[in-house]
Amino acid sequence: MASVTLAKVRKDYGNFRVLEAVDLDIADGEFVVLVGPSGCGKSTLLRMIAGLEEVSGGEIRIGERVVNDVAPKDRDIAMVFQSYALYPHMKVSSNMGFSLMLRKAGKSAIEARVNGAAERLGLQTLLERLPRQLSGGQRQRVAMGRAIVRDPAVFLFDEPLSNLDAKLRVHMRAEIKALHQQLKTTSVYVTHDQIEAMTMADRIVVMHDGAVQQVGAPLDLYDRPANIFVAGFIGSPGMNFLPATVSMSTGKVEAVLADGQKLALPAGLPLENDAAITVGLRPEHIRLTDNGLKALVEVVEPLGLSTQFYVTLAGQQVCVFAMGRADVKSGETVRLSADPASLHVFDPASGRRISASPN
Ligand code: ADP
Repeated sequence: MASVTLAKVRKDYGNFRVLEAVDLDIADGEFVVLVGPSGCGKSTLLRMIAGLEEVSGGEIRIGERVVNDVAPKDRDIAMVFQSYALYPHMKVSSNMGFSLMLRKAGKSAIEARVNGAAERLGLQTLLERLPRQLSGGQRQRVAMGRAIVRDPAVFLFDEPLSNLDAKLRVHMRAEIKALHQQLKTTSVYVTHDQIEAMTMADRIVVMHDGAVQQVGAPLDLYDRPANIFVAGFIGSPGMNFLPATVSMSTGKVEAVLADGQKLALPAGLPLENDAAITVGLRPEHIRLTDNGLKALVEVVEPLGLSTQFYVTLAGQQVCVFAMGRADVKSGETVRLSADPASLHVFDPASGRRISASPN
């Protein structure tokens, strides 16, 4: 096992910079998820760690060793791809043992390692099959088996679950997490799916436009997003954003919304009277009350376990999430409130969070 250290790692394609200087320390045994929308540069970063893309600037270390110029096969990593990348003409057992064969390991040693991995992944009865005789989920399990057999210092996962249907994805993400808890191998996992990131990661790296936006434990990102991008990306249903101005005239600190309605802000923030702000409100922090903000209910989505409804509040569509069943109907006016401590306040110009203490 090993740590992975990125120091000012950049990637340019000609004049086009796809990754700004990325600094990241991944501890030995940690499960880190790189997450962001399509095109943000997460696969490029992973492929640079793997040695499949050249590094334009900066340094990548695996353990103590700088690997910028080390061939992929000599980096002591194993990668699991979205496309599985299995050899179609080889049986499952040969696919899993192939890297050990290349390393000229003995037949019995290979067999022992393949059987061990097959047992961990529930593949014992499939060892004689060809990849085309397997389901998508089984193929992905074989791809993971092939990685485990190599006993690498680092696992690299590139959107491994994206080809699976929704139910299988939920199952496999729990399986990968359980596997990591057993093996404790340092893992870097790329996905565009924030739920995968939240459920699997020790730490999440949120990326956007080739730059790291924030690094932190899942609930730290959820509770204290550093900027509007992270706030909107992490959490489902997503955070609501309302443009507002600060009012301090009455001695209280309030946000004045576009229609003049007022919302109490958390105390202690470095705000100025009349300053433009963006208020972030998580759907689950909004409550129905008798005397809060007036909003018109547009759509109600009863999900059984919970109810989601959409209202127009100060000219914006706002999502509200309530556990259980909510007594609301489309077309009616409701009153809503939120505990000031649950509000997020951002600078609309920079997008950054406005905090009482530095982030
Ligand atoms: P992600 O994995 O987050 O979807 P990628 O890492 O695949 O994003 O791509 C990041 C950016 O780099 C994208 O804008 C993409 O168009 C660009 N890119 C990727 N590969 C190449 C290439 N070979 N030449 C030029 N641009 C590329």
